Amino acid sequence: MPFDLITVPCLSDNYAFLLHGDGKTAVVDVPEAAPIVAALELREWSADEIWITHHHSDHIGGVEELRAKYGSLVRGATADAARLPPLDQSHGDEETFDFAGATVRVMDVPGHTVGHIAFYVADAGAVFTADSLMALGCGRLFEGTADQMWASLSKLAALPPETLVCSGHEYTAANAAFAKTIEPESTALAWRSADINSARAQGQPTVPSTLQLELDTNPFLRAGLQSVKTRLDMDGESDARVFAEIRRRKDSF
Ligand code: ZN
Ligand code: FE
Repeated sequence: MPFDLITVPCLSDNYAFLLHGDGKTAVVDVPEAAPIVAALELREWSADEIWITHHHSDHIGGVEELRAKYGSLVRGATADAARLPPLDQSHGDEETFDFAGATVRVMDVPGHTVGHIAFYVADAGAVFTADSLMALGCGRLFEGTADQMWASLSKLAALPPETLVCSGHEYTAANAAFAKTIEPESTALAWRSADINSARAQGQPTVPSTLQLELDTNPFLRAGLQSVKTRLDMDGESDARVFAEIRRRKDSF
């Protein structure tokens, strides 16, 4: 089943996504309504569904305006229903639902917030990760623990490597500068960093990326590698401990 995937810049550095197939469109996160309405109208699409990843205002700020305009069906995490806009359908970890003839898998990915979910659509080859796994980064640990985020990232890392990683922000250039402090000798990272700079110079988004690219260059996915542990002087430490150290360093970078 062919799907179209559209990246919509919102606010100063957020992204929403449109997933369109079989005449139906799902909007993943609604930082604000106007740019999403414009992207829909350009294609003569309607916001049939809205999928919410987590409760932060920069991901839900435009939900009610969009729902009022299109009568969208709104989906989000059961665990976070109390602090999300009213949900028409709520989902727990590993629940699935049908969208445009495809199966959508809901993955609980706590860490940034405790109720953060991702949406994996195998038939579209895409996972919507928002502020869990991000391009060259991961979300800050506002509510969850490092162990939770490491477990979340490890689940996402097990998806097919060609999967498009649709994350929630344009933070990639800053993330690249930090990543180089963890793996300064990485040629894959140097190449990616050059690609990021040229994309940004042309005003192009750096998301989605692919899971393979993240596995090769994202320091937060690479905490389990011996070379990274040695570099951080953490030989023999658990992967989660090394992840926690990388996250701690990024927080003060
Ligand atoms: Zn957030
Ligand atoms: Fe965010």
